[in-house]
Order: sequence, then structure tokens, then C-alpha cells
Amino acid sequence: MDAFPVFSFKDARDMRIGLMGGTFDPIHMGHLYAARQALLGAGLHRVVLLPSGVPPHKMTGANAPAGDRLAMTALAVRGQPGLAVSDYEIAGGARYTADTLDGIRRLCGSGCSLSFILGADSLLDLRRWYRPDRLLSLADIVAVYRPGYEVCALRAEVEYLRANFGARIALIMNGGVDISSSCIRERTGRGLPLEGLVPDAVAAYIREKGLYGYKQDS
Ligand code: ATP
Ligand code: MG
Repeated sequence: MDAFPVFSFKDARDMRIGLMGGTFDPIHMGHLYAARQALLGAGLHRVVLLPSGVPPHKMTGANAPAGDRLAMTALAVRGQPGLAVSDYEIAGGARYTADTLDGIRRLCGSGCSLSFILGADSLLDLRRWYRPDRLLSLADIVAVYRPGYEVCALRAEVEYLRANFGARIALIMNGGVDISSSCIRERTGRGLPLEGLVPDAVAAYIREKGLYGYKQDS
């Protein structure tokens, strides 16, 4: 893939920006659905996907290198209005979401508003992330439903985070897409089709690069 455009936070002054972190290993239709739901539901100008840097010692043969995860994410947002990708974390900007939000806030200035977008599983984990108090003071949260999670538990978590951290959280409950990167990695290794689960350009990239144990003759 040729060089692809990455989002410049310096150009985001006075914008309402949504940031969506993740390993994106690989990006799939569930991520894109959540990004679009947040874009429309929270009235954001742009949703920027932020693939995380994974330290080399944590890489296993089942994972794709950071450069490939970034390239696949860029392919997935190409031609998608309102969506963009950033190499901020992969390029070493920060490792923890709270630090990322702090760094991005400095780049885009006080006029831009930041929302952090996450799925139901991450919402339930958030209180155990690094410095949730700081994270929740730096961004509003847009949480998008993901099948398999109890609505009652999600609502209770929102109430907990509001009461204990003063969190500003919107919960988007329309539909939901039951796809995970783990499922895509497993299907790839078994030679099963990926069409409809990831964008076509991402499926082609996985095969071309032989990621996730894909073999030409499998
Ligand atoms: P893995 O199976 O490897 O954990 P994943 O599908 O959970 O991958 P991540 O990169 O871990 O993808 O997720 C990044 C963010 O996207 C998280 O906040 C996660 O909750 C959210 N997310 C992932 N899949 C969905 C989905 N189908 N619907 C809504 N949100 C999702
Ligand atoms: Mg996950």
C-alpha cells in the first residue's frame, strides 16, 4: 500500500473529535459500525481511529505488526466520510489512553472537544484502566453496545462511573454488530472467508501479506 494520510490534530482546532483506541488486529465491520454510530449519535465532526502500539515482547505469531495494523485501518477508513486514522500511539506518542488524551489535547488546543469511543466490553473494564479519573476528566465517553453484554450491567457501570469520577457518558444502544478481531484471526488461520466481516481491501491485504496464519493453499 502507498503512503496513506494520517489525521493531523493540529488542524482540529474548534472541532468535535471522537477518538477510538484499540489494537485493530485487524479492523473489522464492528469497529466501523461503532465509529459511525458515535459520529452520528454524538454529533462529532470526525472520528479518528488510533491503533495502539504493542511492545514487541508482547507480539505472538497470532498478531500482526503495528505497521500492518495501521495500514489495514487506513484502508478501512479510505473513502468513509468523517472517519480518519492516526499513528499517534504507534509512533510512540503514548502507551496509555489517559496519556494519549492529554497529548492530543495539547496538539489540538483548548477549543476542540474530545470524546473517547469504546465498545461495551471496554466500558465494563474502564475503571481498571490506567488513571480512569484522569482519562474521564480529559474526554467525554461514547460507549457503543456490543452483543453479548447485559444492558442492565452496562447501565449500572455508566452510573458507577458518573457517580465516582464525574464521567460524562453517552450509551448508544442501537443494534450492535457481533464481530471480533479474535474471530477474524481464527477464521483466517482456518482459511474461512472474511467477506462481509472486514472491508474487502482489508481481506485482500491479510491474504497478500499472509497475516494470522493465512496460507495461499488453505
Ligand atoms: P479482540 O478480539 O482481539 O479483543 P476486538 O474485536 O475486541 O479484538 P479491539 O481492537 O480489542 O477489537 O477493540 C477496540 C475497541 O473497539 C474497543 O473499545 C472495543 O470495545 C470496540 N469494539 C470492538 N468490536 C466492537 C463491536 N463489534 N461493536 C462495538 N465496539 C467494538
Ligand atoms: Mg478486544
